[in-house]
Amino acid sequence: CGIVGITGTKQAVSVLINGLERLEYRGYDSAGIYVNDQTGQDYLVKRAGRIANLKSALTPEIQGSAGIGHTRWATHGVPNEINAHPQYSADERFYLVHNGVIENFEQLKQEYLADVKFQSQTDTEVVVQLIDRFVVDYEMDTKSAFLKVLHLISDDSSYAFVLMDRQTPDTLYVSKNKSPLLVGVGDGFNMVASDAVAMLKETHNFMEIEDREVVIVKPSGVVIRDFDGNEMKRDTFRVDMDA
Ligand code: GLU
Repeated sequence: CGIVGITGTKQAVSVLINGLERLEYRGYDSAGIYVNDQTGQDYLVKRAGRIANLKSALTPEIQGSAGIGHTRWATHGVPNEINAHPQYSADERFYLVHNGVIENFEQLKQEYLADVKFQSQTDTEVVVQLIDRFVVDYEMDTKSAFLKVLHLISDDSSYAFVLMDRQTPDTLYVSKNKSPLLVGVGDGFNMVASDAVAMLKETHNFMEIEDREVVIVKPSGVVIRDFDGNEMKRDTFRVDMDA
């Protein structure tokens, strides 16, 4: 399973697909992408099975400069198109890719989302619906809602998350715990992925993400904070290896 995300000057679709192909070695049963073109158009494409199935579902109008891609290794819910990621909120505002397992998702669902009709059987959908609830019903901004949900997720859970919000379409909201994810630093763009190999075609400069940090990735820069809101300094490192 794997994750790729990018925002900035690049054509996101080809970067995401290429990145997901680089992550195929990690194993998966389905794949999907969400891209946003920054002018109000966005596209979600998901398929069960091979990345080739996803590729053959793409059409030329599916373009964007920011997006997220995912290969899934199902833990909750059968491998099918609906359970494939990105998972999204019922109002189609928030899109989330996740690798890992949310151990307390049933409890979160009962406590906060008893009235919500779920589309999928995934643990992941609970997270994205909960972010939407805090933003829409509790009027939190997206960053605060994301952080609140991260605090509510039990410590024994594992995750690499990349979230997108249609209202801030150039921003990737990122966090990890016990699942791999790192930042790729570019010129005019920035990205994240489960493994540097998925980004080597675009950049050779990377930044580690520690467990339980919130990373805001925009075309112009990357800001890393701990869960208490303190900004963290992080050096970039170079990987001199060809894609
Ligand atoms: N637990 C999530 C699901 O089953 C994510 C699985 C993964 O790591 O790909 O949908």
